[in-house]
Amino acid sequence: MSGRDSGLQDPEAASGFSDLSDSELLQIEEPKIGEPQLLSGPRPQHVDSRTANVEERKKRTAKRKRMRRTPLEAFHLRYLCVTDLSAQVWCEQQAVYHKEKPSVQLPEKTTIVLNTGKSIHLARELQDHNLVPIKTRSREDGWAIKMINILLTITNLRKGQRVRECPVFGVIEGVFVFGIIDQLNYTAKGELQLNELKTRESAYMPVPAQKKRDRFQVSLYKHLFDAMVQGCLTQDIFIHHLHLKPKQSLGQEIQEHAQKAGFMVQCFEDLLELVLLNLTHSDIPAIDSLQIEYIHQKTNTLLGTEVITYNHDELMSMSHYFLAYWKGQRDPNGVDIEDTWKCSYCVFADVCDWRRQRADSLIQKGREKTT
Ligand code: SF4
Repeated sequence: MSGRDSGLQDPEAASGFSDLSDSELLQIEEPKIGEPQLLSGPRPQHVDSRTANVEERKKRTAKRKRMRRTPLEAFHLRYLCVTDLSAQVWCEQQAVYHKEKPSVQLPEKTTIVLNTGKSIHLARELQDHNLVPIKTRSREDGWAIKMINILLTITNLRKGQRVRECPVFGVIEGVFVFGIIDQLNYTAKGELQLNELKTRESAYMPVPAQKKRDRFQVSLYKHLFDAMVQGCLTQDIFIHHLHLKPKQSLGQEIQEHAQKAGFMVQCFEDLLELVLLNLTHSDIPAIDSLQIEYIHQKTNTLLGTEVITYNHDELMSMSHYFLAYWKGQRDPNGVDIEDTWKCSYCVFADVCDWRRQRADSLIQKGREKTT
């Protein structure tokens, strides 16, 4: 289909359950090299801070054990978004606070940057296809929209066309992970390329810490996509992890749109079988190359392109570490001392336990040196 194929718009994605909404970059200014910032959070008086820190962490661990609920269970999450995991690359504690305190307002400037980024993404998407709003009546309907969009993606890739907003999912270490790839296209050499768009308020390329997060994000997309086209998904995954009902009838609108796209389906299982069959027999190759385009929001000019070298072992090792938190195998960690500059841009700086504990421990160390 050339240029104007219809993509279905998932209301679940629009309401923040997909990673569409947080695929933008916040403006972070470069820290001055060699000047780690002093932490200045409130600290308890007349308390041995090291003892207090240890006691506090013990209490938190004990509380978690008592509750016997993993963070996935505590936050009622059936799956994680790719951007949930990539947010941990930046600061895991911050990612957790975003789940714990969803009502904390982002600064107005940040919201404007995010909304501008969303508009630029949308404009790009509309270059390739129309968006069709669809009413959903059940969770199965919501996932059916993703499935239909995958079927459209497969159709277009098989024709050698560029696709945008391609849903990907899979299970990593027992956790269902979902994401949306900005763009897939074939290069002049016929290789399948993933192209991620990042928009920036500032007119310069991101700092290494941001690039690291972005590198992890696109690598995870590749891992999920490759597993999908290699036939690694099974029906059980959707039933077991997402608790979807296979026999659930799909809404009238969903059925009609599937039919318009050339697929006859009545219940969720029909669609699931179709997707799995198409993925397994589509002959779509694995992703050959990964790149990230950084665009300046104000001028819409390209700031630069990063070509990412996929490192499977590194990706798996980082994913293992991040998932361990969600599975309740360890407490969340904040930034390392050399990254405390990130706290200056963090909306949770005033309430962050990690920051306070690190500040206390620095003060304690200073005291020990002077005595
Ligand atoms: S204040 Fe610093 S350590 Fe705490 S959540 Fe924010 S960035 Fe992370």
